[in-house]
Amino acid sequence: MSPYGQHRRAPGRAGRLPHYDTRVVRAGLPRPEQGEPFMPGPVFAGPFHHRGEVGTTEFTYTRYGNPTWSRYETALSELEDGEVVLFASGMAAAAALLLTSLGPGSAVAIDRDCYLNVRRLARTHLEPRGVEVRLAPHDGLADVLEGADLVWLESPSNPKLEVYDLAALADAAHAAGATVVVDNTTAGPLQQRPLDLGADVALTSATKHLSGHADLMLGYLATRDPEQAQRLRDWRRDAGAIPAPFEVWLAHRSLPTLALRLERGSANALALAELLAARDDVTGVRHPGLPDDPGHEVARRQMEGFGTIVVFDLGSRERAERFLAGAELITEATSFGGVQTTAERRLRWGGDDVPEGFIRLSAGCEDSADLTEDVARALDQA
Ligand code: PLP
Repeated sequence: MSPYGQHRRAPGRAGRLPHYDTRVVRAGLPRPEQGEPFMPGPVFAGPFHHRGEVGTTEFTYTRYGNPTWSRYETALSELEDGEVVLFASGMAAAAALLLTSLGPGSAVAIDRDCYLNVRRLARTHLEPRGVEVRLAPHDGLADVLEGADLVWLESPSNPKLEVYDLAALADAAHAAGATVVVDNTTAGPLQQRPLDLGADVALTSATKHLSGHADLMLGYLATRDPEQAQRLRDWRRDAGAIPAPFEVWLAHRSLPTLALRLERGSANALALAELLAARDDVTGVRHPGLPDDPGHEVARRQMEGFGTIVVFDLGSRERAERFLAGAELITEATSFGGVQTTAERRLRWGGDDVPEGFIRLSAGCEDSADLTEDVARALDQA
């Protein structure tokens, strides 16, 4: 039984925990003190003053721990209802988990549609160490669980936005004896809570919505298993996969507006998905908020909101490039989850099973009518 309760939508009365959209506004901030700032500044330090024996002070050397990390980890743990270990990027978090969990003779089942660098990490760093890497498509992952030590999946997946029934998959994986890791980056802790749905570990790249301003890289792992959390902290200390205090402080500063940014971005994504789905010169529109999307019913059950990403196919590389060049409110860039709307032709990177004209668009916080008008115009011109 988890030491952390499940508190979805509990009202904010005395003695009860408020809803997550309320928690996020003050998450990790110190109690108000007369004359003190709401949010203390970042603590820049390599070593800290530290007399005498080890164990007499909490902070000794920043690779072991830093007060600015602790505040942000506390904030995130209030949203995840679990222990949180912060890393220098989402990939540093992924590497920490995979390399501490798997060794010679073990097997990992990975969603073939998951983020391409996670697949590359598995192929180039796990396989040569004697780990069996099983890549399976979205509808085949459940078939390769037997004998797997760990299962890795994303929902909604990046970039195809496939949705897994997380509770069902976690049950099947646990029955097969595997640890379940859900990369929750496309949704984040306010829109989906994998630990509540049975995952053992949730990964989030805070480079995306959590920080939200395209100005830093961070990632974290959340778990309700204190031993797992300690293994990850030990790895971070020993491998040096540590975040810089200033980045952590910036990310914490962005956190109180997360619910607001998600609300606008998700509404914009749905508006764009509806516009795109209604056009006959656009195919393959996927967004879990569309009622006829294959993932809609499951997403409706397990998510609060459907995210800020919409994907679609413009039929050819040339048309996709003309669209991206012609849209004034869309910045061509990789990544997602920022306040500005961004998009890219995903196959320019290679490595994903998507067509040449496939676009991944991340809706930002612009006015919805302006954005849909701009996209419609750029499509007409493309
Ligand atoms: N997981 C997903 C789903 C991602 O999209 C990304 C980055 O795009 C990562 C993990 C890696 O995160 P980072 O870029 O912070 O290392």
